[in-house]
Amino acid sequence: MPASPPPDATPDFPFRIPFADACAIVDAVAAEHRLQPQTVSLSRAQGHVLARDVVATLAQPPFDNAAMDGFALRHADLSADGTPTRLHLAGEQFAGPDVELRVDAGTCVRITTGAPLPAGADTVVMKENTALDDDHVVVQLAPRSGQHVRRAGEDSRAGDRLLRAGDTLTPARIGLAASQGLAQLDVVRRPTVAVFATGDELVEPGMALGPGQIYNSNRDQLMALLRAEGLEPVAFPTLPDDAAQVTSALRHAGEAFDLVLTCGGVSAGEKDLLPELLQRRGRVRVWKVMMKPGMPVLLAEGGTLGPALFLCLPGNPVSVLATWLALGRRLVDGLQGRAPRPVRRARLASAWAKTHERLEFLRGRWWIDDAGISWVEPNPADGSHRMQAAADSDALIVLDPGPRDYAAGTPVDVLPY
Ligand code: AMP
Ligand code: MG
Repeated sequence: MPASPPPDATPDFPFRIPFADACAIVDAVAAEHRLQPQTVSLSRAQGHVLARDVVATLAQPPFDNAAMDGFALRHADLSADGTPTRLHLAGEQFAGPDVELRVDAGTCVRITTGAPLPAGADTVVMKENTALDDDHVVVQLAPRSGQHVRRAGEDSRAGDRLLRAGDTLTPARIGLAASQGLAQLDVVRRPTVAVFATGDELVEPGMALGPGQIYNSNRDQLMALLRAEGLEPVAFPTLPDDAAQVTSALRHAGEAFDLVLTCGGVSAGEKDLLPELLQRRGRVRVWKVMMKPGMPVLLAEGGTLGPALFLCLPGNPVSVLATWLALGRRLVDGLQGRAPRPVRRARLASAWAKTHERLEFLRGRWWIDDAGISWVEPNPADGSHRMQAAADSDALIVLDPGPRDYAAGTPVDVLPY
C-alpha cells in the first residue's frame, strides 16, 4: 500500500513544494553527489564539463604572421600618393619553418597565410592587389600600415584563463585547448544512468497490443533525451507493478549506477509503489512539486537500495518531457558542476488564461521573426498525455505560479527541446 503523505512539507519531508524550492534541493543534492574528475583525450571531450580552468601556457598567435597570401613589405616604402610601387622580390617565406629572411628598404618577401613575418616587414599586401614584373612586385592597391598581419599574443597571452571549470566542451573550446598543445583535458565524469519504465499496461514497440495495453513510449523518449545530453543511458526491461520485482531491480541498479531514472508508479494510485519503497529504503529529498505537468516527481537518495540517486518521473509522456527538461537535466548538470544554462525568453504569440496555482510548462512552437524578436505559440492541447502537441512543439513555455491572464506579447521563459 502506498504511504499516505503528511499534508505539508517539513525539512524531513519535502512534500508538495514550490518549483523553485525543488530546484534548490536538486542543486544541493547534486552538489553533495558531485562526480569525480577524470582525464579524457580531446577526441572524447565533446560535451563533457571541464573540471578545472584551462590557463594558456603559449601566446596565441605564438609569433607575428601573415593573415593573407601575398607579399610582406615595409609600409614606409609605399608611395604616399597611392600610385603603384615597385619592390624587389627578395625571397619566399611559406607557412612552416622560419627561413629567417629580412625585408630591407625597397624589397618584399612572398608570404603565405600563417607564415612568420620576416624581420623588417610590418605589413602584408594581398596577392590580388599586386602584379609580378620579373623579380619585382608592383603593389597596385596599397594596404594600410600593419594590414594583414596577425600579431603575436593578440588572441591570448601566456597566463590568460582560456576556459573555466564548469564550461561545457564545445567544438570551438576543444579547438582552443588543442591550440595550446593540450592532448587531454580534466573533465567531470559523466553520470551513468539506468532507465526503467514501470506499469502492467506497457508493451514494447514492435510487439502486439492486447486489450487495455499501451505502448511504452517513455523509454525511447527518455533515452533520446538523455543521449541528447551526451549521456549513455542503459535501458532495463519494463518493471511490472509488483513490489518484489521493483525492489529487486532497483536494488541492483542502485548499486551499479550513479542515477536511476524511473517513469510511472510515483503518484497516489494503488499500484504506485515507488514513493513507499523509496521512503522505506532511501531518503526522499523531493516529492510532489507544484508544477504542471509532472507534479508527482520524486528525488531520493537510495539508502539501502544503493549509492545511486533515484529520480522517479511520472508516467504521462508529457510529464516525462517536462520533468526531465526542468529537473532531471538540472540534476545531471549539477552532478557535473556545469555552469548554468542561459535563460531563453520569448513573447507569447497568443493570449493564455492560466487558472491554477502551479508553475506550468506549456508546450509551444518557438521562432524568431525578421525583426529578431523571439515568439512562442502555446499549443492549446495541454493535457499531460497529449503527445501530438508535444511532438508539434519545440519548447516548453514557463508560466509562473498562480492564476493569471497572459496577454499576447507577454515575455516568458522558454526551454527549447
Ligand atoms: P502512472 O503514474 O504509472 O499511473 O502513469 C500515469 C499515466 O502514464 C498512465 O496513463 C500510464 O498508462 C501512462 N504511462 C506510464 N508509463 C508509461 C510509459 N512508459 N509509456 C507511455 N505511457 C505511460
Ligand atoms: Mg503505472
